[in-house]
Amino acid sequence: MSTEIIKQNPFESMIDRFNIAADILKLDETIRQKLQRPEKQIVVNFSIVLDNGKSENFEGYRIIHNTALGPSKGGIRYDNGVNLEEVKALAAWMTWKSAVTGIPFGGAKGGIICDPKQYSKVELEKITRAYTKSLSDIFGPSKDVPAPDLGTGPDEMGWLMDEFSLLHGKTVPGVVTGKHLNAGGSLGRVEATGKGVSIITLLALKKLKLIPENTSVAVQGFGNVGLHSALFLHEKGLKIIAVSDISVALYNPEGINIPELILYYNLNNKSIKGYQKASNITHEELLFLDVDVLIPAATEDVITRTNASSVRAKIIVEGANGPVSSDADAILQKNNVLVVPDILANAGGVTVSYFEWLQNSLVESWSYDLVNKQLENILKKSFQLVFKTAEIHKVTPRIASYIIALQKVADSQALKEVYA
Ligand code: GLU
Repeated sequence: MSTEIIKQNPFESMIDRFNIAADILKLDETIRQKLQRPEKQIVVNFSIVLDNGKSENFEGYRIIHNTALGPSKGGIRYDNGVNLEEVKALAAWMTWKSAVTGIPFGGAKGGIICDPKQYSKVELEKITRAYTKSLSDIFGPSKDVPAPDLGTGPDEMGWLMDEFSLLHGKTVPGVVTGKHLNAGGSLGRVEATGKGVSIITLLALKKLKLIPENTSVAVQGFGNVGLHSALFLHEKGLKIIAVSDISVALYNPEGINIPELILYYNLNNKSIKGYQKASNITHEELLFLDVDVLIPAATEDVITRTNASSVRAKIIVEGANGPVSSDADAILQKNNVLVVPDILANAGGVTVSYFEWLQNSLVESWSYDLVNKQLENILKKSFQLVFKTAEIHKVTPRIASYIIALQKVADSQALKEVYA
C-alpha cells in the first residue's frame, strides 16, 4: 500500500535549515532577514507562435537570491511544476552551494512553466529566445549567469547565448554556461554534476569505512545527474542494484550493467522502460531498498516525514536539489542515516560552470583532465570542511554546510552595507 507523501514547501525547507545555522552563528537580525529573502524576483510573460500557427503564452521567472559573493549563478528549469516558491528555494540553494565550494558567485534560478516534451525543437528555440529577450537587462557575464537545469541543456544555453549576443551586438559566451563545446562550452560540463556526486559518494564511503566494491547503490532518476552518477559509480566498482526514471523503476540484486542500460536508454527514446535484465519495482520501493547508498537525483521532496522512517540506506547523497524535506531531517538523523546535502553533493555542476565561465573570460580551453582534477580538488576540500565543521559544532553535515555558507555570505554582505 502506498502512503500519500505530505510535501513541504521547498522554500520553507530551506528556511528551516537556514534558521538552525543562523541561530548557531548568532547572525545579526538585519543580515538574517536580508539573506532570507531574494534580492530580486522577476516574473515575465511572453508568447510565441507555435508550429501549427496558433500562439501560446508562457510565464517565466528569474530570481536573484544574493550577489554578495559575486555575479548570481544558477540554472533555468523547464517544467510544468515550476512555481515562484520552488524557484525562490532553488535560487537560495545556489547561493549556499557556491559559498560552500568557495566559487566566486552568488545564487539565482530561473524557470518557465512548460513541459518541454510537448514542444518541437523550433518551438523550444522560440521559447528560449523570448525568455532571454524579456531578461536581457538582467543576464550578463558579470551580472547573472544562467545554466542548464531540469528540462534544459546545451541547446537552450546556445540559443540563450546567441539571442543575448544579438541583442548586445557582440559575442558574449560568458553570459551562460553549459553550452555545446563548439559554442564556447567546457569539456566535462555535461557530466559534471554526476561526476561530482560520484566523487562525494566515494568520500562518504571512506568516512563510514565502506569498501566501494562491496557497496550497493540505488539511484532515483535517470536524467543527466542520475545517469552520470550511476555510470561513474559503476566504473568505480560499486554495484548499482536499482535505477528509475519517470516511467519505471528497475531492480537487479546482482547489479545492473549501467553502460549497457545507457545504450538501451539512448536507443529507446531516452527511457529505461522495457530493459530486460532487471525486474520492475515501484518508485516507492526503490527509496526503501536495503542498500548502502541511496541517490535521489530527480526532484524535491521525495523523502519527507511520511516516508523517512522507511529509508534503509546507510547514506543518502542528494543528487537533486532538495530531495529530502526539512521535516525528514530529524528522522533520518535519529536512524543514523548519513545525509550528504545537495549544496555539497551536487555542486559539481556549478563548479564546472565556473570553469567554463573562466575559460570564456580568459579565452582559454582546458583539457578534460584539468577540468576533472580541479573539480576533484574543490569537492574534496569542501567535503573535508563540511565534515570538520559538523564535528566542531556537533551538527549534521547539512547544518554544517549551511553554517559555512551563511558565515561567508554574511561576512561579505556586512562589508557591503554602506547605506546603513
Ligand atoms: N542547475 C545546476 C544546479 O542546480 C547547475 C547550475 C550552474 O551550473 O550554474 O546546481
